[in-house]
Amino acid sequence: MKPLSRTVSPSITMSLDREARELIASGRDVINLTAGQVDLPMPEAGKAAVRLALDENRTGYIPATGSADIKEAVRNRMGWTEGEILISAGAKPLLSAAAACLCGPGDDVLLPAPCYTSYPEMIRLAGANPICVFGDPENRFTVSRTALEQAATNRTKAILFNNPVNPTGTVYAKDELAEIVDFCKTHDLYLIADEVYGTFVYDAPFVSLYDFPDARERLILVNSASKSFAMAGLRLGWAVAPEPVASAIAGYLSHAVGCPCSLSERAAKAVLEGDEASSLSLRDVFRKRRGTLFSLLKDIPGIRTERSDGAFYLWADVREIEPDDAAFCRALLSAESVALAPGSAFLLPGYVRIAYTQPEPVLAEAAARLKRFAAQYGKHAG
Ligand code: PMP
Ligand code: GLU
Repeated sequence: MKPLSRTVSPSITMSLDREARELIASGRDVINLTAGQVDLPMPEAGKAAVRLALDENRTGYIPATGSADIKEAVRNRMGWTEGEILISAGAKPLLSAAAACLCGPGDDVLLPAPCYTSYPEMIRLAGANPICVFGDPENRFTVSRTALEQAATNRTKAILFNNPVNPTGTVYAKDELAEIVDFCKTHDLYLIADEVYGTFVYDAPFVSLYDFPDARERLILVNSASKSFAMAGLRLGWAVAPEPVASAIAGYLSHAVGCPCSLSERAAKAVLEGDEASSLSLRDVFRKRRGTLFSLLKDIPGIRTERSDGAFYLWADVREIEPDDAAFCRALLSAESVALAPGSAFLLPGYVRIAYTQPEPVLAEAAARLKRFAAQYGKHAG
């Protein structure tokens, strides 16, 4: 056979989640805190819309970037007055399409890191080069203007910016975002922004990059129903972008994805047109979990973590216990049946990501196991 012309490494978070689920299915009492997905049900209005859509036989193709009425629902809910709206099968295809349309061979894309597992591969699949710019551990892992300036060259085409951040839970403040916008303007870069955790911000109102009108001509802003409406498996996301970027992305999606799922689109329209209560109540649940888990972890010797402002992750430095984060996760799973994602999956070894996507009693049990593990680790070897 002729060789493959490209290999793509699988999503580590998705692989870890699958492995943990397999262990659970085989009867092991594993607490799975790997994949970041909401464990609560989607809003009833969305479910009813799917049932109705089925009864109405809405099972054919729909327009490649979504029907006019869901675009309107997105526009109203998000307050996106300018730009073209695009709907697709989750945030992932929209981000991949943006990378593919804006970047190509010879282009660099700046990637604040640690970052979401899929970003580097999305950029490579576009033929471009991911350039990691590491955030400052002393400042919530935010990436500074100075660090960005040092990484920018005449090959730099775009920045792929995530806020709130997976895996650290960091939320950028308005003045920090203003620096990012100004940096992009100075270097004439596209700003591909991923705000899928925008409704999971706990201590202050969320500031979207859309709130900077002078960013809009270069902003491709992506969001989805996966987290905010607990609909990850229904695969429905939305974006706003200026022309001609939006047309290019639309063309790409029409070939690569076809159209969004006709049923999921109805569900998303219903929840977007519903009141804000459902996403606010999700946020309250996760805020409480964050507090509980943080208070249980903060005094465990060898585990250093901060409370984090958003998303549903705690990011913990485990180097005092075991510098090899993958070894830490393997040993924890084997000894205490707690599954976490290693920091190296997000390009920063020595840390682990703890997704608080389980009810509080389960999180309390996970913390107790982690505490026991931290106290025992290495004792038998030595
Ligand atoms: N961006 C980030 C930062 C994520 O953590 C995820 C994980 N689901 C995605 C995008 C993908 O979202 P979607 O399910 O909408 O494709
Ligand atoms: N976004 C989630 C995570 O980071 C789900 C898995 C994935 O899409 O990679 O765990």
